[in-house]
Amino acid sequence: MNNAAMTISERLWQGEAPMEDWTAAVAGGSITPVGEDVVVVHTSYVFGNVTAIRTADGLVLIDTGSRETGDQTFAAIRKWDDRPVHTVIYTHGHIDHTFGVHLYDAEADQHGVPRPRIVAHRSVLERFSRYDATHGLNSVVMGRQFNMPGYAFPDQHRRPDQIYDDVFGLDVGGVHLELIHGRGETDDATFVWMPQERVLVSGDFIIWAFPNAGNPRKVQRHAPDWAHALRKMEALAPKAVVPGHGPVVFGAARAKALLDDTASVLESLTHQALKLLNEGKTLEEVLVGVEQPAELLAKPYLKPKYDDPEFVIRGIYHLYAGWFDGNPAHLKPAPAAELGRELAALCGGAAVLAERAATLLKDGKTRLAAHLVELASAAAPEDAAVQRVRADVYAGCAAAETSLIGKAIFSVYRRDAETRS
Ligand SMILES: [Zn+2]
Repeated sequence: MNNAAMTISERLWQGEAPMEDWTAAVAGGSITPVGEDVVVVHTSYVFGNVTAIRTADGLVLIDTGSRETGDQTFAAIRKWDDRPVHTVIYTHGHIDHTFGVHLYDAEADQHGVPRPRIVAHRSVLERFSRYDATHGLNSVVMGRQFNMPGYAFPDQHRRPDQIYDDVFGLDVGGVHLELIHGRGETDDATFVWMPQERVLVSGDFIIWAFPNAGNPRKVQRHAPDWAHALRKMEALAPKAVVPGHGPVVFGAARAKALLDDTASVLESLTHQALKLLNEGKTLEEVLVGVEQPAELLAKPYLKPKYDDPEFVIRGIYHLYAGWFDGNPAHLKPAPAAELGRELAALCGGAAVLAERAATLLKDGKTRLAAHLVELASAAAPEDAAVQRVRADVYAGCAAAETSLIGKAIFSVYRRDAETRS
C-alpha cells in the first residue's frame, strides 16, 4: 500500500477522512500486504477488493474485480507475482467481484494452460441464471442507482466449476483456506478464513458503511443471517479483516470492534422489528417504532452512506411478513391517476396540490411534499408547472438523504420531472 493510502486508512478509521480520499489514493490499482504471501488489491471504493495468495501450485484469488477496473487489478497482481492462477473463490456473485475472471481465463488460454478452477457457494449458479432472466431489469436498476443512462448489465457470467453448501476446506499448494457460507447482502455469500495468518476475508459482509441490507430495487436481503455470519467471524478472532470494499482493518481489537458493531446494528434492527411484528403491528408502525441505534450508526465504518436503516427495517418486515403493509387501501389500490384526479377535484385542481407541495417543501416536510406532488402529477401529467414543483420536491428529498441509494432514486424522478417541465 502506498503511504497516502495508509495514512488515509488510519484517518478513515478515526472518522477524519471521506472514502473519496481513499478511492483517489488507490486509483489505478494499489496493493496492501496482509501476510508474506498474501496481498489485497484495491482500485476504488466502488468496486470490490481482490485478495491474492501465493502457493506452491499457483495463485489463489479471492474475487477478481470488476469489468471496469479488473484490468488494473490484473496488472497489479502480475507485477507482484507471475505464476498461473490455480483457483478463484467468489465471495458472492455480484459483478464487481466476479467479472474480472475473464482476464485470467484469457491469460490461461493464451499460455495454453488450464483455466483457473472457480469455487463458490451453490447459490451463485442460481444467481447467474437469474441474471440471465432479468438482464433488462438489472440494466435499468443499475443505470438508475449509479446514474449511468444506457448502462448495460454484463452477461456471459463465468460459472463456478466447484460448488459447496455450508463449509469447504480448500488446500492448494500447501495453503489451507476455510470457506464458510452465510447469507447477508446476498444468499450466495462466502467468507474465507486463513488460519495460518489469522486473516478474515469477509466479502461484502463488511463494506466500510452501514450494511446494504435493504436496497429498495434489489432482491431480498438477509439482515438476521447477516448478523449471525458476523458473529461467526468474530468468534474466529481475526488479526485482520479484508472487507469487500475499502481498506483492510488491522489489529485484533479493531477487527473485533468492526465485526461486533456491524452485527449489533443488524441485531438491534431485527430484534426491534420482530418484537413489533409479533405484536401485529403494520409496516408503518414498525418503521416508526424501531429506534435506530444512533451511536453505532455514527461509527466511521457504519455510516449510512450507501444503504439506509429505514430501508433495512422495510427489508426485515418483508422478510418475515410479505409485501402487504397492513394498510387495507394498499391491498388493491386504485390507479394513481384516478386517486390524483379525485383529490385534485376535491381541492380545486392539480395546481393547488402542487402549490401545497411547494409550501411543505419550504417547511422541510419533504415526505409529505412528495405525496402531494405525486398526486398532482398523476392528476395532470402534462402540466409543466406541476412538473417544475415536482423536480424541486425531489431535489429537496435527495438533499435530505444520507444514503447513495436514497439520493439516487429521488434523483431519477427529479430528472424525469425536469424533462417534463
Ligand atoms: Zn461488493
